Amino acid sequence: MSEEKTDQKIEVIPEVKPEKLIFKSKLPDAVKEYNRQYYLKTRAEKLQKDKLKVYCHACNLNIRRPGFLRHTKTANHIKMSNVGVKSDSN
Ligand SMILES: [Zn+2]
Repeated sequence: MSEEKTDQKIEVIPEVKPEKLIFKSKLPDAVKEYNRQYYLKTRAEKLQKDKLKVYCHACNLNIRRPGFLRHTKTANHIKMSNVGVKSDSN
């Protein structure tokens, strides 16, 4: 394998059917690499954000950040938030 190190690059183009070419990405390698790096960078940031917890005043609970929006739609949260609103108005 290492013996075949020459300056000339031999491009081997495999035979691909025209239908399959549609699914191949047309982006240049530089763009692909940039997207990959951006994905890895934002992925780490997102994972760090997901570790944070949000405090729900209505339910008196700590909920993980990604699940908070879902939590606001739960029956318990709606019930508890309605109770809080009523008590505040009084
Ligand atoms: Zn809640």
